[in-house]
Amino acid sequence: MTARIIDGKALGAQVRSDIRTRVGQAHRSVRLDAVLVGTDRSATIYAQNQARNCAEAGIEYHLHTLPSASGFDEIAGRVLLMNTDESISAIMLHLPLPEGVDAERVQSLIDPNKDVEGVNPANIGNVVYGRRSLVPCTALAVIEMIESTGITLRGSNCVVVGASNIVGKPIAVLLMREEATVISANKFTQNLAALTREADVVVVAAGVAALVKRDWIKPGAVVIDVGINRQTGADGKSFTVGDVDPAVAEVAGWMSPVPGGVGPMTVAMLLRNVADAALA
Ligand code: NAD
Repeated sequence: MTARIIDGKALGAQVRSDIRTRVGQAHRSVRLDAVLVGTDRSATIYAQNQARNCAEAGIEYHLHTLPSASGFDEIAGRVLLMNTDESISAIMLHLPLPEGVDAERVQSLIDPNKDVEGVNPANIGNVVYGRRSLVPCTALAVIEMIESTGITLRGSNCVVVGASNIVGKPIAVLLMREEATVISANKFTQNLAALTREADVVVVAAGVAALVKRDWIKPGAVVIDVGINRQTGADGKSFTVGDVDPAVAEVAGWMSPVPGGVGPMTVAMLLRNVADAALA
């Protein structure tokens, strides 16, 4: 069997087109306000890409740049002002923050109704309780991609490899909300391969290149690869690989590629959260 590809680029493009239509028909403007502290190169590039993605979707984008020397009080103060500004419906915080500033403490100040990255703990708490909430974008992307295969999650066996607060744990919680049977694995899990071999769905978000091998996967299973690992080839050029060995495609029923899988779908889910924060 050769796995069918879950094309995150194509799925993401469809979501973005739907958002463009929804935003175009809305009776109020939809905007995203992002905070960038300092001049970190990756964060600056991310912010530029975000501005372009928002423009394409018809979303207004406002970047609030603060000096590198900003401390907790300045950054938190800006977030609190944005919380009370009624013209702002969506807030996100670019990382990293300056050394010594506790990012999680700042994130937990973002109004949960404007927290489009789902980083305020109140939002994941709302997911656990089945209430309406803004959910971390990568976790949303993973669920959408699994559902795109047509598999019935209720009653299925799912293994989530990786249990970080922003990726692995929210994915496990969303799968539980779908009434799947969920195993959350981490680097201390024993006999991981024996667990994944029983699974109908395997989601891998460990940050370990080619961790999951061909013989770890049940024939026909859905495999979602969240990992992003930069590697350098013999020619000195760098490239990206996932956490799943490409040979898994010989046994899986469905598999998401890296690149072109969870990454582009995550970008689309952020835009959807922005639209939901303003319009839902
Ligand atoms: P993290 O380092 O915060 O957490 C890694 C988790 O994996 C931990 O729970 C750890 O215990 C577990 N783990 C590590 N090695 C393991 C092993 N050998 N066996 C089982 N579990 C193991 O990482 P993160 O922020 O959750 O990110 C995970 C991966 O997902 C990274 O490669 C990251 O770059 C990628 N990522 C991708 C996207 C996207 O949009 N595609 C978004 C966020 C993160």
